[in-house]
Amino acid sequence: MTARDRYSRKLECSQCGHTGFAEVSESDERRAGNRDFRIDEMPAGFAAEFPSQDPSKYMVRCQCGHKFRFEQKTAYPPGGEPRR
Ligand SMILES: [Zn+2]
Repeated sequence: MTARDRYSRKLECSQCGHTGFAEVSESDERRAGNRDFRIDEMPAGFAAEFPSQDPSKYMVRCQCGHKFRFEQKTAYPPGGEPRR
C-alpha cells in the first residue's frame, strides 16, 4: 500500500485577490511518474474546473470566473516547490 502526502496550499486568484487554503494529497511514490494528485477539500469560493492527477494541469476556477492552474511554476523558486 502506498503512503500519501497530505498538505495544504494557499490558492490565490490573481484577478480578484480571493484566497483560501486547499487540503490536498498525493502519492509519495514520485518515481512512478503518477503523483495521483487530488484536492480533498476545496476552499470556499473556488471550484475544480478541470480535475487532473497532475497539479500542474489541475485547473481551478475562482468565484469571479478567473481560471488558473493549481500549481503555477512561476510561484516557486528554481529547484521545485517546497516540501515538508
Ligand atoms: Zn477571483
